Amino acid sequence: MTFIPYGRQNISNEDIDSVIDVLKSDFLTQGPAVKRFEAAICNHCDSKYAVAANSATSALHLACLALGLGPGDIAWTSPITFVATANAIRYCQAEVDFVDISIKTGNICIKSLKEKLEDAKIHGTLPKIILPVHLGGNSCEMEDIYNLSLQYGFKIIEDASHAIGAKYKNEPVGNCLYSSICVFSFHPVKIITTAEGGVATTNDQKLFAIMKMLSSHGIEREQENFEFENDGPWYYEQQQLGYNYRMTEIQAALGTSQLNRLNLFVEIRNQLAERYNTLLSDLPIKILRPIEDSYSSYHLYIITLDDKYTKKSHRDIFQYLRKNNIGVSLNYIPVYKNPYYANSGFRNMKLENAEKYYTSAICLPLFVGLTEDMQHRVISVLTKALL
Ligand SMILES: *Cc1c(COP(=O)(O)O)cnc(C)c1O
Repeated sequence: MTFIPYGRQNISNEDIDSVIDVLKSDFLTQGPAVKRFEAAICNHCDSKYAVAANSATSALHLACLALGLGPGDIAWTSPITFVATANAIRYCQAEVDFVDISIKTGNICIKSLKEKLEDAKIHGTLPKIILPVHLGGNSCEMEDIYNLSLQYGFKIIEDASHAIGAKYKNEPVGNCLYSSICVFSFHPVKIITTAEGGVATTNDQKLFAIMKMLSSHGIEREQENFEFENDGPWYYEQQQLGYNYRMTEIQAALGTSQLNRLNLFVEIRNQLAERYNTLLSDLPIKILRPIEDSYSSYHLYIITLDDKYTKKSHRDIFQYLRKNNIGVSLNYIPVYKNPYYANSGFRNMKLENAEKYYTSAICLPLFVGLTEDMQHRVISVLTKALL
């Protein structure tokens, strides 16, 4: 039996042609394709601005910098995320802390967040930024988080790496109605791909300008924005310590072509999730569901086991699936369990629901191109594993 991976890209002939066209054009980087991609992202997300970057990790770093995160500051995120969310905070030399998740959604728990904010207010340790993560493409309760941000004075960066094509209250994730900046990833396992790549959307012209500048060495080329006198036709200024986080034209062309099929991809993912829902309904497991008033992009299909109903351990079930060529994954190990974070003060951290999630969650294969037969095979192996 062939191996079924947990995720994989879908590349069409149009995608290939669009990349070839760029290779034959004048620009491989810093040309018109990136601008077209950014415009297409704004159009899809209903955002005013978009900054393309060479990864979502870079885009998260730019977002934190644009909001002024630095030494002495604190930022919070979910422990159930890819390490890059927390790392972006550390790149700015700010302190990280983690808010426990809800076991029903896998996303930041609003009740835990409220309690932690109240406690931080008393101790003078309120965060400057909170980075909610839309796990698996299921939107967080953004309105609640936004209302808390007004009350406690923090900014919001959405890590929507899983959530392009998702909706919250009938509006696209990425419109930044409840956040300052929203970041998407285009790694091949995500909803659409640019091989490597990411983007940050915002409605704030100032945040856009800072992110754009920092993504290209902190260099300013517009005369009206110069700090010093224009010294000649060759002149530009490096005004801040920026980075080379630019997306190439090749990546952008692939991204624009992929965006044409985004709605289709997300529809297919929802249909596949629906079929899993039906096929799994008699098994002794729970399924992470999108919150009311939202539409998931279904980057991940996550089940949690309940040891009350299963004889075998989570570890044994996971191993059985892998042995039988079902490419299950565990997204994610709580970030604070990694040696880097354990060695930076989190050795004794144990957030109740994050721990529970870690010992019960399994992500089943889900990608455009997963066939009905493959889904039946996944369910049949899982059923045997649970016995
Ligand atoms: C994939 C991912 C990232 C990082 O994305 P890259 O584009 O690979 O840098 C960040 N956060 C989450 C939640 C992710 O899944």
